[in-house]
Amino acid sequence: MTVITKPQSARDFDQQRDLPDAVRTANAMEGFLVEFGPRTATYLNSCVRCGLCAEACHFYLTTGDAKYTPIHKLKPFEDAYHRTQGAFSWLAKMAGMAPRLSLSELQDWEELIYDSCTLCGRCTLACPMGIDIAELVKEARHGMFRAGLLPDRLAQITINAEVKHSPFGEPDEFIETIHAIEKEFSITLPLDKPKADLLMTLAPGDLEEHPQATVGIARILDHLGIDWTFSSLAFEATNFGYLSGDLELQGELTCRLIDKAREIGATTVLLPECGHAWGAARWEAARWYGGPIDDIRIMHTIELLAENIQSGKIRVKQIGDTATFHDPCQQIRRGGLEEAPRVVLKALGLELRELEHHKETSFCCGGGGGVLANTRAAPLRKLAFELKQKEIDATGAEHFVTSCGQCRLQFDRETKASGWDKQVESLLELVAENMIVNQKSEKE
Ligand code: SF4
Ligand code: SF4
Repeated sequence: MTVITKPQSARDFDQQRDLPDAVRTANAMEGFLVEFGPRTATYLNSCVRCGLCAEACHFYLTTGDAKYTPIHKLKPFEDAYHRTQGAFSWLAKMAGMAPRLSLSELQDWEELIYDSCTLCGRCTLACPMGIDIAELVKEARHGMFRAGLLPDRLAQITINAEVKHSPFGEPDEFIETIHAIEKEFSITLPLDKPKADLLMTLAPGDLEEHPQATVGIARILDHLGIDWTFSSLAFEATNFGYLSGDLELQGELTCRLIDKAREIGATTVLLPECGHAWGAARWEAARWYGGPIDDIRIMHTIELLAENIQSGKIRVKQIGDTATFHDPCQQIRRGGLEEAPRVVLKALGLELRELEHHKETSFCCGGGGGVLANTRAAPLRKLAFELKQKEIDATGAEHFVTSCGQCRLQFDRETKASGWDKQVESLLELVAENMIVNQKSEKE
């Protein structure tokens, strides 16, 4: 019989949770240790306990609860570091006095690592010592995952991503859905072409709840005359390895896209309106290939829209209303794309009324970092939404637009629950709906 001592993959969770506490704790420590290096040491030794990160975090601001202070969320990670790698840890270890983390301490911290952190990076921006708290929380998840310490629904979705290929389902289910969208919207969606210049990827949430996003990007790519395809074996842009802390799965999901692009001769992998997909593929892909990916451009949809609007290849009708824009954290604050959506909104003739906190200081929607997939985090998500809602209402703008499918799902759900009168709109869909495809539509 094979004895599993740590999850080799997401599907080992149940066995992991049955292991003795000491083994699970040791697995968590092993996961933390993978991340410890000079950068972590610098961060963890730099905190001056000024508390500024608390004032930046939507979960602290909306609850007033000190446990949601960003740097506090790192306590088990920090303890693990000081007990194993800290300045005097060698002495304590030699004397057999090195204290150990207990499983119950880690269980208490699970909520702080997964429920009350969207990896939004707003605290990182506020920290005078430049401590990247969001990155450290993400790294702490690698240890928690190895101990089977993560929310049930997030664990289940992660298992689906590994076992079924995607949280959305098996490749056959993807093919069926693509054909159903073709039929419903009278469009042809290229699938599994052996050669193409661009590999298009999708977010399963959009496939399920916003199929117009798939239709919209298809119409835009066809209008641009791009040779593109979906792949039933590499369509998944969301990365639940990245969100859950399953580092191996994160690598597998990212490499699947890049390897498929290389196989079909594509030079571009286009990411959908998703936030963390951009972080995982654009900024972390190099981690799996030992260096920068030079032969493939990892491109976000909002880059494609802005670049082609600026070059005149995409022309759009003027909507002529007022709009406000929610900056998705991973695209804007963590991803550097703040100008692209503004180029698109301007081209659409929308007068932009910025939120009080916008661009890199924008508040998270409340559902990022896997928190949307976490059922028990619903009360915290609601509070984060209300913070955002007040800012949106204060602008008085007619349109409320964003460029992330996950943010959109969070706003959709909270809007429905609260009866708010604003409907979030997709930047991509606005372009697709207003694109001038011939003289006739220009006159309309
Ligand atoms: S990354 Fe965002 S959610 Fe997480 S602790 Fe920092 S401000 Fe709060
Ligand atoms: S803002 Fe930075 S230095 Fe200040 S308490 Fe938070 S992590 Fe520590």
